[in-house]
Amino acid sequence: MTPEIQKPISGTTPEDAAAIILLRADTDKANPEVFWVQRSERMAFLGGFHAFAGGQRDVSDAETQVENCEDAERAAMIACAARELFEELRVLVARGAETLTKGQRASLLDDLESARMTFPELLKHYGLHLDAKDFTFVGRWVTPPFSPRRFDTLFFIVNCPAKQEPIVTGDAELSSGEWIEAREAVARWRRSEVLIVPPMLHALETLAGGLTDDLVERFLSVPQAHGEPVRRIEFRPGFICFPVRTPTKPPATHTNCYIVGSNEIVIMDPASPYKEEQDALASCIDDLLKEGRKVREIILTHLHPDHVAGVGALNEYFGGSLRVAAHRLTAEALDGTVHVDRFIEDEELINLKGEPHIQLRALHTPGHARGHLCFYEAQTGALITGDNIVGLGSVLIDPPEGNMRDYLASLERLRALPHLTVLFGAHGPAIGSARAKIEEYINHRLEREANILKAVREGAGEVKEIVARVYTDVHPKALPMAERAVLAHLEKLEADNLIAKRDDGCYVANDDNPSTS
Ligand SMILES: [Zn+2]
Repeated sequence: MTPEIQKPISGTTPEDAAAIILLRADTDKANPEVFWVQRSERMAFLGGFHAFAGGQRDVSDAETQVENCEDAERAAMIACAARELFEELRVLVARGAETLTKGQRASLLDDLESARMTFPELLKHYGLHLDAKDFTFVGRWVTPPFSPRRFDTLFFIVNCPAKQEPIVTGDAELSSGEWIEAREAVARWRRSEVLIVPPMLHALETLAGGLTDDLVERFLSVPQAHGEPVRRIEFRPGFICFPVRTPTKPPATHTNCYIVGSNEIVIMDPASPYKEEQDALASCIDDLLKEGRKVREIILTHLHPDHVAGVGALNEYFGGSLRVAAHRLTAEALDGTVHVDRFIEDEELINLKGEPHIQLRALHTPGHARGHLCFYEAQTGALITGDNIVGLGSVLIDPPEGNMRDYLASLERLRALPHLTVLFGAHGPAIGSARAKIEEYINHRLEREANILKAVREGAGEVKEIVARVYTDVHPKALPMAERAVLAHLEKLEADNLIAKRDDGCYVANDDNPSTS
């Protein structure tokens, strides 16, 4: 069967990929064991997430012969799955491979990895072939358009050959891998111990129901398994990410609205000004209400239009019954456009009833905006970072609303939180390598600050001049934004007493011994 695929609404074009749901040989049919891997924390995309083996289509995949497969596209994706499975986990699922010794398989892998042979050449050379019967298609999922990288992924169930054992070498991409009972994997997700993407959760929950006769039907029972875009993303239980399309800063095209709580819920940043997106969010909330949840209030992380533009529409949809909460400074700035009913103070605890009970601690973290709030859940180490840290694009500090000194102090405060496992930013996917990401942000700003200080010490006194020296690879269109960012750094350096602004508007270093290094 070839499922219909819907065209993505916007964002980058998805790349073809295959994922392999590898089942242990002779596994218990009632509670099968599946092989999952953990992506390296160093990976920019979904670092630290648990996943199945898999990867992108290679040009050679279309040349691989696949028996019992009429459809050339499907055959190429089966070839992709088989190749990725061999490359990532060293498991070779090919007819004829059962007679190969472990040493022979290693030598084949070496041929492939050293590019002496492509995968189809290798199969041919050793008299092996792929058979579509060994790869059960169980869904086609498309990464939502909010992501910097997008995949159009075909999922296949594959039984691990009895004499082979998957191995993760701990390379740059994967840090570990293990067999796990499907039910235990789901339980670990429910206990907030792992991060997984929606197709993975769906696969594990389906497998947890056992290897029944209708297994494939159950896999294909949701529209998202036929390429329909995923809207409601639950990276962690009780933290639903619902990206909505907004006129935000490129490369981002969406803002993440977070719906937090297991029974009592808060809706953070209903962001979209577009009717169809507002309707989609309202219908998601409606579904949650039907599941028995209750809305406590709408919460705004900060004042920017790409975060608050959907407040009015959502409230109207619910007959004006929703209360809006934000920091006092956000409320004052939005006065006349968005009505705020209640102020959220720094360190306020928001207790959301339900199982699991979720307690959010509000953190006033100015810098990107004066009234910016982040929300910390100490139990599971989840941090909602708003626009202070994002999974896609960069954070603009634009004075006077933006303040670089405050921003760095806010980042330091976030870094000092005792238990951090995931960052939920306002744009892009969740970030599994939480503390490393905060450190990367701090280091990036300090490095830029050092470069700007050096430029001033070397005699660059005007903002444009400094931009030209510090931002050497910036697109002309981005220059005005670079100028705002440099201005923010200059204000901080001035406040730190390292430079001074002369009456003519030019900046000079306060240092008596200017460095020329
Ligand atoms: Zn913002």
